[in-house]
Amino acid sequence: MTSTTAPETTRSPWDLSRDELAELLSDHPRYRVDQVWNGLYGRGLTPDQITELPAALRAELSEQLVPSLTLDTEQRSSDDTTVKQLWTVEGGSIETVLMHYPKRSTACVSSQAGCAMGCGFCATGQIGYDRNLSVGEILEQIVRARAAAEPRRLSNIVFMGMGEPFANYDRLMIVIDRLLNDFEIGARKITVSTVGLVPQMLRFAEAGLQVGLAVSLHAANDELRTELVPINKRHPIDDLVAAAQLFRERTGRRVSYEWAMIDGVNDRDSDAAELAKVAKRSFAHVNLIPLNPTPGWPTTGTPPKRIRAFASQLEDAGVNVTVRANRGTDIDAACGQLRANQEATPVEIRRR
Ligand code: SF4
Repeated sequence: MTSTTAPETTRSPWDLSRDELAELLSDHPRYRVDQVWNGLYGRGLTPDQITELPAALRAELSEQLVPSLTLDTEQRSSDDTTVKQLWTVEGGSIETVLMHYPKRSTACVSSQAGCAMGCGFCATGQIGYDRNLSVGEILEQIVRARAAAEPRRLSNIVFMGMGEPFANYDRLMIVIDRLLNDFEIGARKITVSTVGLVPQMLRFAEAGLQVGLAVSLHAANDELRTELVPINKRHPIDDLVAAAQLFRERTGRRVSYEWAMIDGVNDRDSDAAELAKVAKRSFAHVNLIPLNPTPGWPTTGTPPKRIRAFASQLEDAGVNVTVRANRGTDIDAACGQLRANQEATPVEIRRR
């Protein structure tokens, strides 16, 4: 484990608030602030690429504001609909996944380098925690994804990459504010995924944004969930349900429960029955996701036929359910997997 804060020696151009930029440019005409801000956010340019600025100012800004991401590896799925990028950042590496659908393009963004939550089936959890990302490091992923998506429009952002977004709450909220106001991405096109940090879920609900909230549930009884998602010991399922209910009250929106289908672990009839009860109490939608295999996890995803039967059981119980397509299995597209394929050590899980 290294430091818990972003490096302070250099700042990404996207780290600065508009007020901080104005202060940095206080010796220049005021319209320079708009020029730089529009270059950074409207066109995704680094300061040296904003050619309407005088050369001396470009040089001055480029010395102080240095992009934080260096591309290490880029993989494309065989059908070219999924692009995975592994970036080197100070003291670690992070991943961004860009997914193209017929009517939208979505970037799945990292909020931390590594993750401290230790979910055993997750490639990032197997790596461990490095540090929180800065605002600029998170936004740069989106700037780069937007450029990589062209000529398509990057329309949706999901905070489901490496890390637990709510463990980096204050920076996450700044990033969301910039997405809404400077990238012009609508709140309903943004989703935050949490493993279930209840205090932050409650704060997020009280913020009243129309941003989507997805909770990685994966088990609907505390014993199994604590085994799969260790943070459940601190924030058990009843507390999660209460937070989901508050989110519904404050925003009018349902949370989604994410459920990675793990063969022989959480895909039995009894699991579906427990999930149906929890989902209904929470007014939640359920997303079933075939588990992407990871190098450090000895189990495999549930076969498609069993997933369909599980989904039918939920529907019969009155739960809204979607079976998600598994993107990019040919390019290590599960969260943290590109990096984990080099680093993970195997863990053990008991099959039931
Ligand atoms: S599933 Fe999410 S919270 Fe759990 S270890 Fe992976 S990145 Fe962290």
